[in-house]
Amino acid sequence: MSAMAARPGAILDRDGTLIDVVRDEETGTVQVAFHPSQLRLLPGVVEGLHLLAAAGYGLAIATNQPGPAKGQVSLAAVERTNSALLGLLAAEGIEIAALEVCLHHPSGGPGGDARWVTECACRKPKPGLLFRAIEHAGLDATRTWMIGDSAADVGAARAAHVRSALVFLEERCEICPLRDGPLVRPDLRAPRFDQLVAAILQTPHMNCSG
Ligand SMILES: [Mg+2]
Ligand SMILES: [Zn+2]
Repeated sequence: MSAMAARPGAILDRDGTLIDVVRDEETGTVQVAFHPSQLRLLPGVVEGLHLLAAAGYGLAIATNQPGPAKGQVSLAAVERTNSALLGLLAAEGIEIAALEVCLHHPSGGPGGDARWVTECACRKPKPGLLFRAIEHAGLDATRTWMIGDSAADVGAARAAHVRSALVFLEERCEICPLRDGPLVRPDLRAPRFDQLVAAILQTPHMNCSG
């Protein structure tokens, strides 16, 4: 074993994991944040990220943002919102070593930007975003977790051969329309981000022969 291997890592989903979705009380619909003013860190996120950083984990974000491909929001809005999130976390003393964004969508939507309407290798549950995060943040894949809130996050973790942990609250079922399918079983789950991190830090690293 090399003495100075890459560090352990946590690859973080954005919507529903770090920040809350945006609810329209009138229509009952939910969508993802597309403006800095809509950013609401979820309970336990700051505490959990501090725990991970203190334990030597490199932090990265891997997020599907098909809004521009679907004609729902502009690329600039996505980038502004992501930058504001990094700023919000930096203000809490949390450094994100890599931000990986998939803008693609296989079928797009009315008025969508055709540049992003395509199949790709990075839209979760595909593993491309996670591979990029591992490389850009200098993570050891055998000691890396994908932390998310959806089946796509678990699928991407499996495809990238990292472990998966889900923040999952049964009673927050109103966000189900944003999920990609039936929940598949993650390696760990907990109702709050910091509880999930505590469980991760108590789990032995994979004994990987690779
Ligand atoms: Mg999510
Ligand atoms: Zn993609």
